[in-house]
Parts: sequence; structure tokens; C-alpha cells
Amino acid sequence: MGVQEQYPFDVEAIRDDFPILERLVGGDPTSPGEDEGDDVDLVYLDNAATSHTPDPVVDAISDYYRSYNSNVHRGIHQLSQEASVAYEEAHDVVADFIGANGREEVIFTKNTTEAMNLVAYAWGLAELGPGDNVVLTQMEHHASLVTWQQIGKKTGAEVRFIEVTDDGRLDMADAEAKIDGDTEMVSAVHVSNTLGTVNPIRELAELVHDHDGLIFADAAQSVPNRPVDVADLDADFLAFSGHKMCGPTGIGALYGRRELLESMGPYLYGGEMIRKVTFEESTWEDLPWKFEAGTPSIAQGIGLAAAIEYLEDVGMERIEEHESLLAEYAYDRLTDLGGVEIYGPPGDERGGLVAFNVDGVHAHDLSSVLNDYGVAIRAGDHCTQPLHDELGVAASVRASFYLYNTVEEVDALVDAVREARDLFA
Ligand code: PLP
Repeated sequence: MGVQEQYPFDVEAIRDDFPILERLVGGDPTSPGEDEGDDVDLVYLDNAATSHTPDPVVDAISDYYRSYNSNVHRGIHQLSQEASVAYEEAHDVVADFIGANGREEVIFTKNTTEAMNLVAYAWGLAELGPGDNVVLTQMEHHASLVTWQQIGKKTGAEVRFIEVTDDGRLDMADAEAKIDGDTEMVSAVHVSNTLGTVNPIRELAELVHDHDGLIFADAAQSVPNRPVDVADLDADFLAFSGHKMCGPTGIGALYGRRELLESMGPYLYGGEMIRKVTFEESTWEDLPWKFEAGTPSIAQGIGLAAAIEYLEDVGMERIEEHESLLAEYAYDRLTDLGGVEIYGPPGDERGGLVAFNVDGVHAHDLSSVLNDYGVAIRAGDHCTQPLHDELGVAASVRASFYLYNTVEEVDALVDAVREARDLFA
């Protein structure tokens, strides 16, 4: 059976919802809108960085601006009430999507990075000190790595790293050795944005909970692509970004267990997060608003809810299946090409991305040649510089897939990689 026959849903019907996929590229990016030179089909394989936005999500955002644009929470007038209901209900949609116990456990942030900083500052600064440790993995994104590194410096807590095995998995024996009675927090990436490894968050949770510590799951690369349930993972905190899951930029979500969020002080201060203010003292709003200071990203929150509804209509299991199909196919075809080093576990054990290098070709040259063929991939360290140091390379290229990608697009990637390899041989 061909790979196309194994698609779990009608990919062409999905593609119709994403007009951007019809674009031709090749023109001068400094003069956008001028069609001259735009002559190759776009093959968009940079979804781990940012995914595209389907028409229903664009419509939901546009409807907000056209019909009920207004500030939330503080208005009595009708538009403000409509905006407040939609924005607040968006928290319920996120809560249902990840199995949280209601909107109180869902804080809207700008992105995963801000969610990580929120916990690091509001919880970490208050709870950590010399003698404590925070355990990360060697495959953390800088969003987690740099944040906890800096909180470690501010508090005197030690930051430890669980090692990665040669085949790109987390070394669980090392995890057992590093997580101990002084571990206050484990912060671990669920699906690595470089290796594609799917990490055993639940096992890490068991290890750290045995020592009365907490776990933060960085779900930026898992919530968009697979069913994620905070109770199944036993996560205390979890974060993800809307722009990687068919939603707009400027919105992400932090899940936190209610009693933890209740016990934490605010991260940012100002309007919308207070209950009573005098010249001497202030008290805080209930959850989740205590952590959402100032006018929030209203249209983006509504857009995130629309994106979740869109993904749920397709089905998260089916999206995961589709991505696995493409990732395995890409892994096998790139391996067969020869001269390609792929990082991370085998094709059938990874999330929907493949990071690699081609012998004798710099990652940036490779992605530049691929761009000439319309193939959009990422080149660089993917915000995992220390992991790249461990891999012994400065940079790699990464192709990442989403629900609208096709086998033909993977073929276009492989053909362009072959051309680039031959060009630089
Ligand atoms: N964590 C992982 C695993 C990621 O892949 C990313 C983004 O690439 C982030 C965190 C940070 O996401 P954002 O830039 O949306 O805050």
C-alpha cells in the first residue's frame, strides 16, 4: 500500500483551508507582493517553528475585530461583555483540550517561553535556594535551559542535565541518578524540537514526585501534534504556543495544578490582575486572572480556541498518525540517499520532524539551495546550542511536518537535498 493510501484523513481537503499553501515563491523577499520571479511551488516544512493558520481560525480572529472588538473584564457595555465571554471561554476550550480541571488552571501567556519564565520567576525565585537542584535534559530548548540557568544563578540552586544516549533517547539511568531528594523541579521537553525524541514525561514525573519535587513539561512540540493530557502525564506545569498549532502568534498557554498556582505570587503586576488596591496594599484576582496582568491578547486567545476546535475536528490521534507516517517516510528516504546524518531515534519512534546534516554541505548552504526549490526548512541550532555541541556540530537543518503536508512534499525535499549534495560534491 502506498503511503498516500495510509493517510488517516483527506489531506487535500485540509489543504483547501490553508490558502497560503497555494503560494508560489522565488520572488524578491524584500519586495513582497511583486509576483515577478515567483515561480516555484511552496513546500512548507518549517512547522516546528511556526505552523500555518486555516481559514476558520483567520475568520474567528477577523470576526472578533469586525463584530465585537473591545477590552475584556472591565466593561459593562455589550461589546465588552461579548469579548469577555469569548476570551474567558477560550480558557475553557484549552482546559478541555489538555485535560485540566477548568479555566483556573489555564493561564494565557505570549508563548511557551513566557510560560516558562512565569513559573521560573513566580515559583522558582520564591522556592529555590542553595542546596536545591533543578533537573533539565540535555535536549532542552533555550526557552527552558536559559531560563532555569538564570534562575539557578539568582537563587544558588544547582542546574543539572540528564544525558542523551547516542541514539538520541533520554538516559533514564542518569535521570534516576540526577533526580534526588534535593530536586525541586524537573523541566523536560516532551517532544524534542531537534531530535524528535518523545520523552517519558510520566516516568520523570514519578521519579521527581517520589522526592516531593515538581515537573514542568515543555509541550511546545507535542500539544500541536498528539493527544496530550496533563493528568496522564502527571505534569504539575505544562506549556505550549498557539502559533505552532494553527493558531496566531502572541498567544500561548501555561497549565498549572490549581493548588500550586494558588500558592504562587503574581509574575507581573498591574491592571486586570488585582481585586482591591489602596495606596498601601493590593490584593489579587482569582485564578487565572491573577497571572494575566494588563490587557491580554484577546483576539489571539479567541484564535487559539478556534485553532483547537479545528484540530479536534480532524482528531489529534489522526494528526499524530499522519505526522508519524511522513516522518518515517522522510527518515527512510533521507537515509537511503546516503551521506545524510539524521539526529535522534529511528524513524518509527519520533515526533513529526527530522533534523540532519549532509556530508560536506553547511546547513545554511543546504537550506539556501532548498529555498531555491521552494522548500522551506530551518537551518541553525534550533535553540538547542548545547545539544548541538553534544552532537559535535554547530548547526543542522530541520524538516518538520504538519497535518497539511504530503508525501509529494517529502519527495520534493529529498530531491532538493540530492541536488544540493551533488552541487557541493
Ligand atoms: N520549546 C520547544 C520544544 C520549542 O520547540 C519552542 C519553539 O521552537 C519553544 C519551547 C519556544 O516556543 P516560543 O518561541 O513560542 O516561546
